[in-house]
Amino acid sequence: MAVLKLLRAPLKYIQGKRALLNFYEETKDLGSSYLFICSNSGYKNCHAKIEKSFENTDCKLHFEIFKGISSNGEIERMRKIARDEKIQVIVGVGGGSAIDTAKATAYYEKCPVVVVPTVTATDAPCTGLSVIYNDDGTFDKYLFYPRNPEAVIVDSEVIANAPVKFLVAGMGDALGTYFEARACTRTDSPSLENGGISLSAMALCELCYKTLLKSGYQAKLSCEKHLITPALEAIIEANVYLSGVGADNGGLAVSHSVYNGFTALKECESTMHGSLVAFGTIAQLILENAPRDEIKEVMDFCYSVGLPITLKEVGVTDEERVHIAAEKACVPGETIHNLTGDVTADQLYDAILTADLLGQEYFK
Ligand SMILES: [Zn+2]
Repeated sequence: MAVLKLLRAPLKYIQGKRALLNFYEETKDLGSSYLFICSNSGYKNCHAKIEKSFENTDCKLHFEIFKGISSNGEIERMRKIARDEKIQVIVGVGGGSAIDTAKATAYYEKCPVVVVPTVTATDAPCTGLSVIYNDDGTFDKYLFYPRNPEAVIVDSEVIANAPVKFLVAGMGDALGTYFEARACTRTDSPSLENGGISLSAMALCELCYKTLLKSGYQAKLSCEKHLITPALEAIIEANVYLSGVGADNGGLAVSHSVYNGFTALKECESTMHGSLVAFGTIAQLILENAPRDEIKEVMDFCYSVGLPITLKEVGVTDEERVHIAAEKACVPGETIHNLTGDVTADQLYDAILTADLLGQEYFK
């Protein structure tokens, strides 16, 4: 039987300047005792507005500063707080790790989860999965949930005040969305949620790419100066909603396998997820032998917002090291195999080096 089409998304998505002042109003139907799992900066930048929204209510609020990564130990610690204090709603306030910890805690304790992203660097806020680590920091597993978060609330003021590098990395992650989904539809590969790819999901992915091209550069300029413009609002929505829901329901291909591959290289440790996804997208287009205009459009975009188009920019100076990354990107089970034809590590190596050559032309 053919795979059934599937479309999943957060129940509610709220975005705008000072949106956190509406926190209580938007979540009051979920319960009356809240555990906020916050990163340090998430707490600092959000708690005053959140608390203000609860003024004159008798809800119970517990703010807990989250330590480091979404590890099993940290999830256990949060679950204990949730049980001891009879928490009804779990909220993640911060970047990917705080959000992943909150999602996992809510899942195990059977509570609804609300997500307040304080940066827009990844797809974590809207998706129905978490990355879980062991206590020593090594990767443990992906945890897939039966549903997506009950609500995602993005305060544009918080995003505009966060370092611009997170916005740019988020655009890199968002850049892969359309091309990866397109590759999956060509081979009838399933989405991240293991469903068939719907027309609606594909429309979100396409809009994601168009929005990046239209508003990416302006949004970057706005964010650098902490200015909130329609372009910045558009990119926040592209990075958080279109990219997250798009990837969840559209599937992944080469871009994300290239990211996974490059995590094998020490010299790429400080390169952000989205930067590698963007560079991986160029490699994917080369493997697909995409039209020259399309490759140029993607590379022009990357260059304009400061996403990497050369190996040097992702931290690699020795071409031979790319073999290691290419091998890791092509292990069985990697999403690179959703591409038409069977991509081998050698083919990927050649595509990555070709991407680098094209990229170098921009700096001549
Ligand atoms: Zn990603």
